[in-house]
Amino acid sequence: MDLGIKGKRALVCASSKGLGRGCAEALAEAGVDLVLNARGAEALEATAAHIRSTYGVEVTAVAADITSEDGRAAVLAAAGDIDILVTNAGGPPPGLWSDWSRDDFIAAIDGNMLAPIALMQAALPGMIARGWGRVVNITSGSVKAPIPQLGLSNAARTGLTGFVAGTARQVAEKGVNINNLLPGIHDTDRAVSLDTGVSKAQGITMDEARTQREGTIPARRYGTAAEFGATCAFMCSQHAGFMVGQNVLLDGGAINATI
Ligand code: NAP
Repeated sequence: MDLGIKGKRALVCASSKGLGRGCAEALAEAGVDLVLNARGAEALEATAAHIRSTYGVEVTAVAADITSEDGRAAVLAAAGDIDILVTNAGGPPPGLWSDWSRDDFIAAIDGNMLAPIALMQAALPGMIARGWGRVVNITSGSVKAPIPQLGLSNAARTGLTGFVAGTARQVAEKGVNINNLLPGIHDTDRAVSLDTGVSKAQGITMDEARTQREGTIPARRYGTAAEFGATCAFMCSQHAGFMVGQNVLLDGGAINATI
């Protein structure tokens, strides 16, 4: 399917690895020029070089922490006018509801709620002025069904979801579509770190931890970054113009709900 976005320009945050990279590659395959971001310059430059040589699109790489004000300013300055924004950042650490201090909550809210909101506030005026835009926020299945050990994620991402629900409906008439993409368990470094937590907590091997978590998913496997990216690219396409303020869950059926 032609996604109809060849020649558009996208900022994909936190995209040297994992789900962000999957989104960047799928957009590049559709002919979109990219601004990529991550904190570590080495992996970021390697990903940028791979995408340039594989898909022949223009790629600008900006090494910066997207959750900091300075980092965002550097990324946005390099990005210039963008048609597509994919927000993403690392997730908050796991723990127990009783573990977290006010500072822990502020850090999670900064990273997973206020950072994407600031990026949207920066990008939306230009999209509205040009009459076309797509925003996809990478959030988590935890906004639909809380994950007990990820209370910081449950809290911060639900706040972002509320902001998007209201804002998406205010900008839709301008040709700008904002939606969220909710990963369940995917095969990335983040999954390895969560498997490590399960393995340590239960005194089992990494393979056993993975098999146990795969057993909780009706598809009986982890999702891939390529599948995730393909869905993101569709949500950024010309075909998704009637999708407004939605929360698209990719979790292999793990959340047991009718709607
Ligand atoms: P990942 O494999 O660990 O990749 C994270 C990417 O983001 C890397 O490129 C990393 O590069 C970059 N990054 C992290 N923090 C950053 C920051 N502050 N500023 C800029 N770049 C940053 O993670 P993932 O699995 O793709 O997950 C992406 C998001 O989806 C996370 O928020 C995660 O919590 C959420 N999620 C993932 C899953 C899953 O199963 N994978 C499930 C639910 C939710 P640097 O480290 O070099 O910055």
